Amino acid sequence: WNSRYGAENTTMRITATQGDITEQRVDAVVNAANSSLLGGGGVDGAIHRRGGREILEACKQLRASEHTDGLPVGHAVATTAGELPARWVIHTVGPTYSASWDRSDLLASCYLESLRVADSLPATSVAFPAVSTGVYRYPVDQAARVAIRAVREADTGVELVRFVLFDEQTYRTFATELGQH
Ligand code: ADP
Repeated sequence: WNSRYGAENTTMRITATQGDITEQRVDAVVNAANSSLLGGGGVDGAIHRRGGREILEACKQLRASEHTDGLPVGHAVATTAGELPARWVIHTVGPTYSASWDRSDLLASCYLESLRVADSLPATSVAFPAVSTGVYRYPVDQAARVAIRAVREADTGVELVRFVLFDEQTYRTFATELGQH
């Protein structure tokens, strides 16, 4: 039993869908950011492109104030969502995959910390991408297990978690792990 997890959450709805996270009409979308918070490729690039300058300006302010050394791996922080349909972007930094060093606690922390930030906003519907499964090379089956377990066991007021998976294989892996048909 791990004390960082709460009791199984029974009121939360968890779904998986194939699509683009920038189009989601939820309170908050999660960004698989990097520590710099100043943008990157993948989902990060898409969020900044579609959300406009306002998100980058907010990230620069965070770098100039509470996160001068960047956002550590496993942490999360919220900004405006700029022109996205969501109200907030929650930026989290996933671990890079290592075959010799299990970083699943850091990956779980991304989800738990994002939900904690969501509670503080408060956001009750949150869309997550498959954090760390792109440039950071985390195997999708492992990442799906860690992500879904963390969200299921999180002690949070968030009522809807939607995993938004870009490609079909990643979507199928998450849907299967969720028992969604
Ligand atoms: P990381 O650096 O954490 O690995 P990436 O952005 O490289 O982050 O990849 C994370 C996942 O996000 C990958 O599965 C990638 O295919 C997916 N992805 C890329 N663009 C989008 C998007 N617009 N919406 C949802 N998922 C996306």
